[in-house]
Amino acid sequence: MPLSIAKSWIPSARHHPDFPLQNLPLGIFDTGGSAPRCGVAIGDHIFDLQAAAGFFEGEALRAVQATANGQLNRFFELGAGPRQALRQRLVQLLEEHSPWRAELQALGTQVLPLAANCQMHLPARINDYTDFYVGIEHAQNVGKLLRPDNPLLPNYKYVPIGYHGRASTIRPSSTPVRRPNGQTLPPGQSAPVFGPCQRLDFELELGIWIGQGNTLGEPITIGQAGEHLGGFCLLNDWSARDIQAWEYQPLGPFLSKSFMTSISPWVVTAEALAPFRVAQPKRPTGDPQPLGYLLDAQDQAAGALDIELEVLLSTEAMRHQQLPAQRLSLSSTRHMYWTVAQLVAHHSINGCQLQAGDLFGSGTLSGPAAGQFGSLLEITDGGKKAITLASGEVRRFLEDGDEVILRARCAREGFASIGFGECRGIVVSAFEWGR
Ligand code: CA
Repeated sequence: MPLSIAKSWIPSARHHPDFPLQNLPLGIFDTGGSAPRCGVAIGDHIFDLQAAAGFFEGEALRAVQATANGQLNRFFELGAGPRQALRQRLVQLLEEHSPWRAELQALGTQVLPLAANCQMHLPARINDYTDFYVGIEHAQNVGKLLRPDNPLLPNYKYVPIGYHGRASTIRPSSTPVRRPNGQTLPPGQSAPVFGPCQRLDFELELGIWIGQGNTLGEPITIGQAGEHLGGFCLLNDWSARDIQAWEYQPLGPFLSKSFMTSISPWVVTAEALAPFRVAQPKRPTGDPQPLGYLLDAQDQAAGALDIELEVLLSTEAMRHQQLPAQRLSLSSTRHMYWTVAQLVAHHSINGCQLQAGDLFGSGTLSGPAAGQFGSLLEITDGGKKAITLASGEVRRFLEDGDEVILRARCAREGFASIGFGECRGIVVSAFEWGR
C-alpha cells in the first residue's frame, strides 16, 4: 500500500489531525522527571526511540543513536540519508500490518507513552537564531503604517531581509511569556518613559531547522540547500511594538524581540512535507529576477510550501466562561516572497557558517486580506481598530492572561493531512521593580 494512504495500527493515529503515520515528526520529551529523550509523535502517543532502539539497524540505528543525548543536533548533522532510513523503518514498525505490531504492543507505554503524560523540550541546542522578513504581505502592511506611499524599501525584492535574533530565549510551546519592561516613547513626547510594554504582539512564522552545517567561508549553493534543512516548526516571534518603535533605528529590533520566542516542539521533516511542495508563485510583472546565486529552476518549480497557518486567541475570561479559543487569522506559507532554499543560500553566501540546530524564522506570514493577518499590528491597524471577542472583551494588543495558539495543517487530495502540533504561550504580568 502506498504510504500516502497507509494507516497505523495505533488507533489514535488514524485520521489524527496532526500526527498520522505520514508525519512522524521528531521531538525531545520526558515522562515526568526522566531524562529528556527523543521520540516520534504518532497519534496521541510518542514513540520512544531509545526504548525501541533494538528495533533499528544500519543507517536508521545511526539516526537513533545520534539522538541518545536528548538533543537533535547530532541527528541534524547526519543529514538526509539516516533521517530517511529512520522514517522508512518507522513506517515498517508502525503501519497497520507491521510484523512487529504484537511485540511493540506488548511493551505498551514503555515504548509508546501517551503524549498527554509527557513534557516537551526544545528539540535541539540552538546556537544561532536568525529571523527573516519574507512575508511580503506583512512587509507591505507594516510598511504602509510607516510609509504609506512607499511601503517596501528598495532592497526588499533583491535581498531576503533578516536580522540576528536571540537564541537563548527560545522556548518550547506552553512556556509562559513574561511581558517585557522597557523604554517607550509616548505619542507627542520627545523623551521616553520606562515600564511594562503596552503594545505586546505575536508574529505568526514558520520555523526552519538547519541540518548539516557548512564550513566557514564556504557558501551553501541554492542547489545544495535542501540537503542542509533539518525540518520545520511553528514560531511565534513575540514583539513589543512600543519598545520596537523607539529602539529600532538605525540597526533594527533588539530588546523588543529578545525577551522570548516560542516554537512548536515537533520537528516536521522535509520528507513529511514533500507532498505539500508547490511552485514558488510567479513574481508580479515589474519585479526583478532574483540574482543568480538565489535562482534555481528546480527550487522555483517546487521549492515553496503549501502549509495553512492559523492563529487563535484565548483570554482568561474566555477560559473562565469555557468559550473556545477564537481564530484571529488564517494564512499560509504561500505568502513567502523567498523560498526556504533561498534563505539558506543567502545566509551563507558571505561565508557565514550555519550549524546543525540553528533556527531560522520566516518572518510574519500574513495574507493580503482581512482575516489573514499574522500580527495584531496588522489586524488592529497599528492599534487604531480594536477587535471584539466572543466574550465581549476588546483587544488592540495582548493583555496579561491572553493565550496565543499557533497551528499549521497541510492538506492535499489523495494524501493524508498532517499538522505541526501547537505553539502556545500565555502572557504573564511584567517583572515588578521593588518586589
Ligand atoms: Ca519576526
